[in-house]
Amino acid sequence: MTTTLKIRKYGDPVLRKKTETISEIDDRVKKLAYDMLETMYSTPGVGLAAPQVGVSLRLCIVNADINRKSPIIMINPVIVLCENKISGEEGCLSFPGFYENIKRYENIIARYIDLKEKMQEIKAQGFLSRIIQHEIDHLDAKLFIDYLQEWRRKFIERKIKRNMKTGKW
Ligand code: ZN
Repeated sequence: MTTTLKIRKYGDPVLRKKTETISEIDDRVKKLAYDMLETMYSTPGVGLAAPQVGVSLRLCIVNADINRKSPIIMINPVIVLCENKISGEEGCLSFPGFYENIKRYENIIARYIDLKEKMQEIKAQGFLSRIIQHEIDHLDAKLFIDYLQEWRRKFIERKIKRNMKTGKW
């Protein structure tokens, strides 16, 4: 049985909390991964990190496939190679309604452990590369607005605060 989890929005302190490395892929971790998949599929999102559902563990899922097949479940992911920065539009399930141009690496190689406890390596380009970097950032308590110029970040924060006051966030 899987459950749709509540997605934490900006302002929730869990998004700024450091995550713990997963030392054992037990039933609890597996359930979290499957619940996160179901949660992601209930949204227009293409990636989700554990802190976004309130869990401070190094686990994230990505899915750049439009048909929503073959999602990648990444445990303790690390980027081992990156090259060539390019700008592209990006959103975040924790910032509904906000889309910003962010510079990220165009090509990366990432390593992670899968649910079968096997070490995997993925070479990613373009959009997939962007999603993986965005999700790994979440595991380091980093958010996409951190890349923006200060005036832009402040503008977004003010807008969110206003929405919070009127109960729209
Ligand atoms: Zn995000």
